[in-house]
Amino acid sequence: MKHIVILGATGSIGTNTLDIINRFPDRFQVLGLTAKSSDDKLEKIIRCVKPAVVALSDPKAAAALKRRIASLNVEVLSGEEGVKQVACLPEAELVISAIVGAAGLLPTLSAIKSGKTVALANKEPMVMAGEIIQREAKKRAVPILPIDSEHSAIFQVLNGERHGDIKRIVLTASGGPLLKLSKAMKQKVTKKEALAHPNWKMGPKISIDSATLMNKGLEIIEAKWLFDLPPGKIDVLIHPQSIIHSMVEFIDRSVIAQMGLPDMRVPISYVLNYPERTALPLPSLDLAALGTLSFEAPDFERFPLLTVAYEVLKEGLTLPSVLNAANEVAVSAFLEERICFGDIERVVRQTVDAHLPQKAETIEDVMAADAWARTEGAQVVQQIGSC
Ligand code: NAD
Ligand code: MG
Repeated sequence: MKHIVILGATGSIGTNTLDIINRFPDRFQVLGLTAKSSDDKLEKIIRCVKPAVVALSDPKAAAALKRRIASLNVEVLSGEEGVKQVACLPEAELVISAIVGAAGLLPTLSAIKSGKTVALANKEPMVMAGEIIQREAKKRAVPILPIDSEHSAIFQVLNGERHGDIKRIVLTASGGPLLKLSKAMKQKVTKKEALAHPNWKMGPKISIDSATLMNKGLEIIEAKWLFDLPPGKIDVLIHPQSIIHSMVEFIDRSVIAQMGLPDMRVPISYVLNYPERTALPLPSLDLAALGTLSFEAPDFERFPLLTVAYEVLKEGLTLPSVLNAANEVAVSAFLEERICFGDIERVVRQTVDAHLPQKAETIEDVMAADAWARTEGAQVVQQIGSC
């Protein structure tokens, strides 16, 4: 029996994780879970998996939940401290890190510091503090298993390979729902259009990141830290069908790709069962029925956030943290209809350009840069004005 904690249990990754776990009740037990706030969905999850502990980062929601599930034998914790406590539950062996955004940084780091194996979907902490996270993980020999489909693909391909034999990795990108739109047309894209990802059903933040290609920008930084590779060995390839989830080219020019239908339950099942695999009742990949897989180079002019991400990756220091925070501010502003879709790029670019990079050796350095970027980004949003 593997004892699991799910950080961000009510989200898209959390739900897919529970789907797999509920299929194998003899193999997995959910000890603890967290969410931001309480709703019917959370209560249903609690009644179904019966965790020992639940933490809600919103203290008011935690108090309300406590009353609602008073008859159950479930401890309810609250606030950021409560979430961190669940991340470190002594009996937990595997922590699924699936909070969205920078809010996942401290709980994920706490899990690592308490020696838990971490299955990482929440890429933003790796972007902000990859060096610190890897330092802490190595110190305690804590494995970090990727859930992000591209990184799962590379992780699977690298199984048994020598690091020195990697020529480069190629992260595939569907290109999102706005792949063919001109820059001018993109300015006025609606929330509904930007959220309509062609291949994946995901939370709102990552869906917008996929439409701007910021998601791929965050993923190249995530890949640097997960696989210890320089920016020159991390390439991006547009592949609209999302069948090849990524590939590795080796020094002998052999290229190995990992493929499958786009379904996050596959990489999630992989980390839950790692190093084994388990049979899943999902449809087979039928390449004959699909007929064609297509590829193209990314258009850095139409998707400038990819350029910003490479620049930031090369310069390092506090810049990745600033990039991430500025993007979170811009995406929230767009989702709240305070700026146009095309303005997301402007907020990120202007905030990154205004930053004087500092050393990012401690978590305090990273958090200070994050806070600075949120203030600066909010000012840029205000200057831009409503859409
Ligand atoms: P989501 O918005 O669907 O869910 C987010 C979860 O985090 C929810 O449970 C929510 O309650 C919780 N949360 C939100 N803000 C919080 C806060 N301030 N404090 C504590 N908890 C908070 O997001 P998602 O699509 O499941 O994505 C989660 C992470 O996984 C993201 O970092 C995303 O980039 C990554 N990811 C997602 C997918 C996918 O298919 N959805 C694929 C690859 C990677
Ligand atoms: Mg991905």
